Amino acid sequence: MSIMRDNYEKILASLGKNITLVAVSKTKPVSDIQALYNLGHRDFGENYVQELIEKQPQLPSDIRWHFIGHLQSNKVKYIAPIVHLIHGVDSLKLLVEIDKQASKNLRIISCLLQVHIASEETKFGLSDNELNDLIIQINHEKSTGLLQSITVGGLMGMASFTEDMNKVRAEFHQLKLMFDKAKINLLDKGFSHLSMGMSADYQIAIEEGSNMVRIGSLIFGAR
Ligand SMILES: *Cc1c(COP(=O)(O)O)cnc(C)c1O
Repeated sequence: MSIMRDNYEKILASLGKNITLVAVSKTKPVSDIQALYNLGHRDFGENYVQELIEKQPQLPSDIRWHFIGHLQSNKVKYIAPIVHLIHGVDSLKLLVEIDKQASKNLRIISCLLQVHIASEETKFGLSDNELNDLIIQINHEKSTGLLQSITVGGLMGMASFTEDMNKVRAEFHQLKLMFDKAKINLLDKGFSHLSMGMSADYQIAIEEGSNMVRIGSLIFGAR
């Protein structure tokens, strides 16, 4: 196995400096991650808790690990010491647990709220109304001195799995509008990341305002 260096360099060159590339390394061996690290890359994304905590000690400690999968409350404790950014938060319950584990580790953990923009029903995430409600709750908790060990760093979403790129574009556009609104409504400072776009649709995501793309197969090959 090896990484696709030409693709990686092309993606990097096309991104511009205000867009973060999260290299999604799920199911790929540590040797592939190390190879990309050796080219200077530091942001890596993993989907599974077990896989992340197995890989992390085998790799350099200055890697910024992004957790991009669906996170269960009972597993937060395993990643809290090492995670840089948690992308898929979609409930107050999960935020409360992340806050608790961050506090135990004397850390502040940045989280992205996951919004459901795709038409498939199996994907996780908040509706527009649920996002608004959650922001009100977070503002309330923070104003009463709770949730001091998390920050809400932005939003994350996944477009429908379709070849209809107009549909994908419309979904990203909608997420950008929600992002702009949330940025105004959330009292938390530092709300800045809009994590959207994967191998098949990252260019459209960027055109629609993404500043963080999560790319796996284009860099590491098909899974
Ligand atoms: C796997 C995954 C990616 C990367 O997908 P590719 O199509 O391989 O680029 C991005 N985001 C999430 C949430 C994923 O699960």
